[in-house]
Amino acid sequence: MLRDELKGELVLPSDPGYQLAKQLQNTEYDSVTPYGVAYCASPQDVLACVRHARETGIAAHVRGAGHSFNGWSTGTGLVIDLSRMNRAAVDGPNVRIGAGIQSLDALDALKPHGRQIITGTFPTVGQGGFLSGGGLGWQTRKFGVASDHIVSAQVVLADGRTVRASADEHPDLFWALRGGGGGNFGIVTQFELRPVDAPRLTGFETLWSFRDAADVLAAWQSWAVEESEDLGTSLVVLPGIFGPGGEPIVKVWGVHHGASEELERALDALTDRAGVKPVHREVSAPGAYADVMHEALCGSKTVQQCHRTGTHPDAVGHRHPYTRQAYRLTGRAVTRTEAESLLQAWDPGLDDERYLLCIALGGAANRVGRTETAYVHREAQFLTGFQMATRDAAAAAQGPAGLDAWADRCGAALAPLATGSYINFPSSRTQAGWETDHYGENAARLREIKQAYDPDGFFRHGRSIDSGRKRGQQTTKAGR
Ligand SMILES: Cc1cc2nc3c(=O)[nH]c(=O)nc-3n(C[C@H](O)[C@H](O)[C@H](O)COP(=O)(O)OP(=O)(O)OC[C@H]3O[C@@H](n4cnc5c(N)ncnc54)[C@H](O)[C@@H]3O)c2cc1C
Repeated sequence: MLRDELKGELVLPSDPGYQLAKQLQNTEYDSVTPYGVAYCASPQDVLACVRHARETGIAAHVRGAGHSFNGWSTGTGLVIDLSRMNRAAVDGPNVRIGAGIQSLDALDALKPHGRQIITGTFPTVGQGGFLSGGGLGWQTRKFGVASDHIVSAQVVLADGRTVRASADEHPDLFWALRGGGGGNFGIVTQFELRPVDAPRLTGFETLWSFRDAADVLAAWQSWAVEESEDLGTSLVVLPGIFGPGGEPIVKVWGVHHGASEELERALDALTDRAGVKPVHREVSAPGAYADVMHEALCGSKTVQQCHRTGTHPDAVGHRHPYTRQAYRLTGRAVTRTEAESLLQAWDPGLDDERYLLCIALGGAANRVGRTETAYVHREAQFLTGFQMATRDAAAAAQGPAGLDAWADRCGAALAPLATGSYINFPSSRTQAGWETDHYGENAARLREIKQAYDPDGFFRHGRSIDSGRKRGQQTTKAGR
């Protein structure tokens, strides 16, 4: 019995906690009913789950914090959940984190030690999935892709071995784990990371009238790549439901790693470039890295409140509704005409909840060679894309054609600018040639490594690396 083998907890469909246990961040996947959810407490638990899935012939779905846009961490088989493997500790010059730790918890745990690691810009994203796919955020321009900072990883393999992957041990696997995408080569239980030196930060937020959106988008992109690498920034076009007076609004926000006078100067330069003034501009007092990141990710919520509702007694963090998205990596700042066509695709005429989001990249991330790690996108300057959401999940599930058509239109608008796609921000639709789009010339080596470490395709999801040979997996009720 799997349950008896685990130090953690196995939640089955008949158990009271099952509805919560099977949730991902996105409500769309609430309709998926896994065979069971195993909350692993140790690498031994993970190993027991792998063995159990192999012996019973059920599929295994590796889950960190469940933020996969396309639901790749769930399915009808056994969800191997790492969320309770969430400790962070200092180890000499490096830090060790459990692979299931969420960004906000990692920031909080390392704060008393004065250590900083790179996270994304959403509080509850799991570091396991984030690092496996690359890891992009406001530290990318100054310090690089988060996975460039992995020193080693403890991994449970499909054949039941537990190995350490580093520059000297299983170097191919180590290469693949840095950008090759989660749920492919094994289950990482712990990462050893080289921290970044970012003791202090300053946060900022500006809001701009939607009337000026094309000017602001074009100005922001050229500004973001030409400013100092101390600047980490995103831009989002928000729909009327979030804007003042029901009007859409453009938000530019982020953090600065240098002196606050430099940030004030940079924000003046953005205004000059855009040729219009923001309707709101706020620069926070400089503070400790963890505090400023917490404020940016969680606002005034406590660490406990900032978690997804239901996962802690105090948690009030929201979930994401049924969503379709089109995201690409782009290699240069857009012209004003291109900015206009992106805004046209976003479609000011619609009322729906939808976003045009860009994160500025480049800088240190692009000083690493394309084949040095599996993360190939070393000339990308922006992650740019669109998301449309509906709160009426049942209606959307029955008739998602409208959302799909919108995402396709947005994908078509992005295509002329695209240099590739980031596996952690995958478009909803799987296009022919997706492997090259996500991995470029590294795709062939990733397939070889998959063949070496998981020849049967035990780890698989909607866009996993193909080992060339897949076993027939079934869901059975045997031996829970
Ligand atoms: C609201 C939101 C905001 C985001 N913001 C950012 C951002 O700022 N920057 C950024 O780079 N990305 C961002 N992402 C994308 C995010 O990095 C990916 O979705 C990431 O894969 C999520 O990891 P997870 O553990 O939360 O998700 P999960 O759904 O649990 O896992 C995602 C994938 O990784 C696999 N996986 C998870 N843990 C492991 C592990 N330990 N070993 C092996 N495979 C594993 C899963 O099988 C699955 O295929 C965001 C996503 C969302 C939904």
